[in-house]
Amino acid sequence: LMIYNNGDFVPKSKATTSIYDHGFLYGDGVFEGIRAYNGRVFKLREHVDRLYDSAKAIALNIPMSKEEMEEAILETLRKNNLKDAYIRPIVSRGIGDLGLDPRKCPKPNVFIISQEWGAMYGDLYEVGLTGVTVAVRRNSADALSPNIKSLNYLNNILAKIEANEKGGDEAIFFDGNGYLSEGSGDNIFIIKNGKVYTPPTINNLKGITRAAAIELLKEMDIEVCVENLGLFDLYTADEIFVTGTAAEAAPLVKVDGRDIGDGKPGPITKKMIDAFEYITQNTGTP
Ligand code: PLP
Repeated sequence: LMIYNNGDFVPKSKATTSIYDHGFLYGDGVFEGIRAYNGRVFKLREHVDRLYDSAKAIALNIPMSKEEMEEAILETLRKNNLKDAYIRPIVSRGIGDLGLDPRKCPKPNVFIISQEWGAMYGDLYEVGLTGVTVAVRRNSADALSPNIKSLNYLNNILAKIEANEKGGDEAIFFDGNGYLSEGSGDNIFIIKNGKVYTPPTINNLKGITRAAAIELLKEMDIEVCVENLGLFDLYTADEIFVTGTAAEAAPLVKVDGRDIGDGKPGPITKKMIDAFEYITQNTGTP
């Protein structure tokens, strides 16, 4: 496997950075998660835009243009002969002395990792995932907005640990006000009486799959309401699904031990999964 490193391609074993990289020392950096299907990159421009927005929000200047980044991503896939892949661009603040001041780091480090990738949840797309609400909060009031896809994912990791502990497939976050936020690595949709609800993105990542799902639902003439939701809405939903680059569209059939609807993936969720599969297989940048 060849890894993109600041303009060069190096074998996986040689793709390293220093322990003085502030990405390692302080989680100072940003990343993206992108998928390729059938040799085409899904929503490439959207992911690159978000990467640069994340960088902007932490005052990190990515030392290449968006066009160069897109080309580097496509070249990483070509170099590795990958058709169905997960792609991970990472931009860290770079190497500097101890001390968190970013001015210690003269040059950001850009890596792009890619690997073959199939369905993340296997049989669970048919059976459904179990969700666990977690005590860790996802806070829009934090300076580190949930909108920033930063290298500081501890919040999400703590949520995942809690979900693992409680035996759930995915953790479900609320924010400090008690509003539904998102999963540890995906956005969340609730279906009630034929209408679809999803929280506004103030307290969660502006998911690219989320945006694609909203568009698909509208095309299917299914009403989508973007509004604040609470724990009660989650427990009493007819259906729930989550969306993410890694997870795609996946049904959630149990939350905190309560069956969602009849505990099986519902009709709108199934339509969503099919529609999403269709666009991933039939769109994208070659
Ligand atoms: N929420 C979090 C915290 C994530 O890490 C991700 C994954 O990227 C998502 C949501 C889903 O976003 P997207 O659909 O853009 O992959």
